[in-house]
Amino acid sequence: MAEIADDIFSDAAHAAVELIGRSGARKLEIGFLHENVPMEEAGWYAHAQYRGARITAEDHTSPAAALEALARRILTGGRCTHCGGLVALTDRGALAYATSTLADGTPWNVEQAREAGQCRWRRAGRTWKRGCE
Ligand SMILES: [Zn+2]
Repeated sequence: MAEIADDIFSDAAHAAVELIGRSGARKLEIGFLHENVPMEEAGWYAHAQYRGARITAEDHTSPAAALEALARRILTGGRCTHCGGLVALTDRGALAYATSTLADGTPWNVEQAREAGQCRWRRAGRTWKRGCE
């Protein structure tokens, strides 16, 4: 179990939980599907519950991996609350250009996305940092 504790208290897990909290999630749940197997095979998942929406990350090799995947999913398709730009997680740009609604349900199109610009978010140790900081 020491392995799981180390993972849960890792920087990636800490940053993800902080981000999910800041994102307005009402509930965060993490767990695994398979018992009596090594941690990597347990099938870790993380769910964040919002008003009217649930975002999930499933089938990961550790709790931190599931939490980080969930944090990335929440950021992808979202707007930076500070500068209003579309959140980009890679230098190639915001993936949400192709989608028609934001994570919060706001209708969205390519022109609006171009006008809003991008904000390149990255995880720095124990916290997620926005690009416009
Ligand atoms: Zn920003």
